[in-house]
Parts: sequence; structure tokens; C-alpha cells
Amino acid sequence: MSSISEAGVVAAVDKELFIGGKWVPAANGKTFPVLDPSTGEALCEVADASPADGVSALDAAVAAQADWATVAPRERGEILRRAYELLIKRADELALLMTLEMGKPLAESKGEITYAAEFFRWFAEEAVRIDGGFAVAPNGTGRFLVTKQPVGPCLLITPWNFPMAMGTRKIGPAVAAGCTMVIKPAAQTPLSMLALAAILAEAGLPEGVLNVLTTSDSGGVMEPLIRDGRARKLSFTGSTGVGRKLLEQCADKVLRTSMELGGNAPFLVFEDADLDAAVEGAMTAKMRNIGEACTAANRFYVQRGIVDEFSRRLTQRMEALPMGRGTEEGVVVGPLIDEAAVEKVSGLVADATERGARVLTGGSTVDGPGNFYQATVLTDVPKEARLASEEIFGPVAPITAFDTEDEAIAAANDTEFGLVSYVYTSDLKRALRVSERLEAGMIGLNQGLVSNPAAPFGGIKQSGLGREGGTVGIDEFLETKYIAVAL
Ligand code: NAP
Repeated sequence: MSSISEAGVVAAVDKELFIGGKWVPAANGKTFPVLDPSTGEALCEVADASPADGVSALDAAVAAQADWATVAPRERGEILRRAYELLIKRADELALLMTLEMGKPLAESKGEITYAAEFFRWFAEEAVRIDGGFAVAPNGTGRFLVTKQPVGPCLLITPWNFPMAMGTRKIGPAVAAGCTMVIKPAAQTPLSMLALAAILAEAGLPEGVLNVLTTSDSGGVMEPLIRDGRARKLSFTGSTGVGRKLLEQCADKVLRTSMELGGNAPFLVFEDADLDAAVEGAMTAKMRNIGEACTAANRFYVQRGIVDEFSRRLTQRMEALPMGRGTEEGVVVGPLIDEAAVEKVSGLVADATERGARVLTGGSTVDGPGNFYQATVLTDVPKEARLASEEIFGPVAPITAFDTEDEAIAAANDTEFGLVSYVYTSDLKRALRVSERLEAGMIGLNQGLVSNPAAPFGGIKQSGLGREGGTVGIDEFLETKYIAVAL
């Protein structure tokens, strides 16, 4: 790490738009700044795409689609495999870049680079396993052939909280399936995606297959592309509010959609749970990514007999977490993404305490530069508190006691979201019973981390549509074609 400098990793990134295999400035010459959330200072400027640049990027994706669809699956897989190896080789530089633009501690950024790379390794393997079918028609007079084809040019939109992994989770299966794409990272964290585009080009991805638009006008640039009709799919990861709006836009030309939206994860701890494991899992589920994860535990429901002990142990762990700039050795609590995030978290905590919640540790912002908020534990949180129904997206753990299993399940399911739920119990029957009754696309059963490229990630209810990763992840980028064969 010693040879890597902050200025060096930022300087090494191409900061223009990546269209048709070339780095180009925005047509109007505009740029916008990327800020370091730990200081509020600008790291650099990147190209600010206009709607005209958006059309150029879509033109490039459309032009490349027919040839790309004919590239052998093995070759598509090998490009991903090479990109995987480059990501792993450059993990230290890429992690520093990510920490600078997003704020999370270096160790977590490094973890995200590995996680992101694993999607490429996984989909490199999946590219050669796209299957089809053959059957005899029931009346015996014909034959059915079923084949899978790439959906076509795709629009991909990713959030700032996992600037690299949310991209590879879409790019990996799109490349494997033979789709071309236009990707738009969040304006707050464009550098990781630009670095990724350069790596994919180096790995041999043909011109026009991947096009990257950085812009301060996401709606203005993307809506015309969604309504254009030539892109056949939108894959979006972000908030439920924006997802809803994009679904409406997609209805116009009936685009296929994958929607990875917001969460409000309940974390249930029963009296029969291994308490050490539950506290460990709670720390992971709450503090991964400084609480800024769609999978973050948002509400802790703990059975009354152990709630005091659980709260005491969690508080002890939370108050010991070192806070600071993500580049500093040992830091666990980095800055939140921006001032608005700090204000939102502060407002949610104030609302909860006004309604009777007690602060066991933390509960305030930090003086000085950067968007810091203390690791916080609240107890006696009433169900009317706003943070019981809104995504906190910060390092705040609200605890509520429950008495019965039914009561815990009802509280857990009392949300429009359904991404992930966590359950801690040592009773096998209860574990399965509760897992089946929880309304969520994913369950962390005695573990605080569910994300895995080889598993189907996604939510139900207003947490989204479709799944990313696993053996089903590639299906999101494939159409099924049935050929009726006469004999
Ligand atoms: P966001 O505000 O919804 O933004 C997500 C992406 O959409 C960004 O690239 C954003 O660009 C873009 N965007 C915003 N408005 C748009 C519009 N009108 N048209 C087109 N694009 C638009 O979400 P975020 O704050 O970045 O991310 C946090 C949210 O993502 C949380 O709700 C979290 O739960 C969710 N998330 C879900 C998953 C999952 O897998 N389910 C994973 C990670 C995050 P700009 O920011 O540049 O405007």
C-alpha cells in the first residue's frame, strides 16, 4: 500500500465519458466535482453528460448489439474472467479510490472490490451454461425448441453505497448473456465505475458493449433513453421512490425491468439464541458499510428475557468502534455520504427520542469537517417512531422488546419493504417456521450477512422485482424463444 497515494489513484482514473470504446468529454464541455465525504473537499472533476451524450451512448450500445450477441459464450466468459483477475490484482488502488469518494473504511472497500470481482468470476462461469430445451409436442405431431437470447441493449443505473459491486452485479450477467449496455453510476461516486470501465476495456470487452455516463442530471439524461424504445431493459438499484418513478417511465415502451430497491430489515433475536452470535451478527448487519446498506438491520426486535443483556452487549461493542476518515488505520465508522444523510439520521433519532426512545450510546453528530454521525444504540423504541418505517441508512440500532413469536413476526412484517430479515434462534423448528412466515426475499438465519454472488439476491413487496446473482441472475438478461417445429 505504501506506494499508493491518494492523489495518484484519483489521477489515474479517466474522467471523461466512455462511449463506443473511447473516452470523450461531455458534448457541452461541462464537468462536475466529486467530493470526499470525510472532508467535504473536491477530489476531482468528471464529465457531466447531457441528454445528447446519453443518446450517443445508446447509439453505441445499439450499434454493438448484433455483433456482440454472436460472440461465443466462452469468449464472453473469458473477458469477465480477465476482468476479475485485474480487479483482484489492483484491489488496493481501487479500494483507496472507493474510500476517497464514498467514505467507507479501507478494509470495507477492499471487501467490496473482492465481492464485486466475484460477480465477474461467477458470471464468467455462467456464460457457458445458458441452456435451452427440446420436447415432443403432446400430440406427437411437432417438436418444441426452446432457446435463450440476449434481451438487447440495457440501461443500468447504480447507487453510491456500493459503487463497484452494484455495477458488476449487473455488468457481469449482461456481458455473460450477450447484452450491450449504458451504465450510469451515482453522481456522488462515479470514479469506481470509470476505473471499472477501463479494466473491462483492458480485459478485451469490445467497443460499444459497455458505455458509461457520469452526470449531475440523472433524470434528464436517463428518461429520454428509457422512453427511446431501442434499449430493451432497465436494471436499477436504488431507492424505492426513484424505482417507482422509473417503472412508470418503463411502462411507456414496456421495457423489461429489474428493480433492487430499498429495505427495512428486521433483526429478530429469540431467548433461545446464541447471544454471542446474535451480537456478532447484529454488528455485521448494522455496521457493514456504516449502516448505509439496503440490507442493513433497521429494527432490532429482541425477546424480553434477553433484551437488557443484548442491549448492554451491543452498546459496549458500538461505543468501542473507532470513528474517522476511512483511510485511517483501524477506523470502522467512516463518514456518511453527505450532509443530507447526516441530517436525515439526526432527524430520525430526534423523532424516536421525542416519542420515548432512550439513547444507550451515541445519538449525535460530530463537530468538525466531514459528514460524521456517532454509532448509536436506542432502546424502548416505539413502533410509531419514523425509523421503524423508514430506511435509516446510518449507524443507528433501534431496539424494541417483544414477548411472543407471533408478535415479533407481525412487527417484522409491518413494512412496505421485503428485502431481507435476520433471525437468531437455536430452535430448528422455530428457525424454519419463522423464516417461512417472514415477508422477505432473503433471510439471514443465525448470520448477519446474506450477500453472495452465487446466491439469488433480491426483495419482495416494495423492495423490488427480480434477482441478481446466483443461477437466476443471468435470466434477467435473457429472453426465452420457443420455436415450433413441424415434422
Ligand atoms: P437513489 O437516490 O434512488 O439513486 C440511485 C441511482 O439512481 C443513482 O445513480 C441516482 O443518480 C439515480 N437516479 C436518481 N434519480 C433518478 C432519476 N429520476 N432518473 C434516473 N436515475 C435517477 O438511491 P441512492 O441514494 O443512490 O442509494 C440508496 C438506496 O439504494 C437505498 O434506498 C438502498 O436501500 C438502495 N439499494 C438497494 C440495493 C438492493 O440491492 N436492493 C442495493 C444497494 C442500495 P444520482 O444520485 O446521480 O442522481
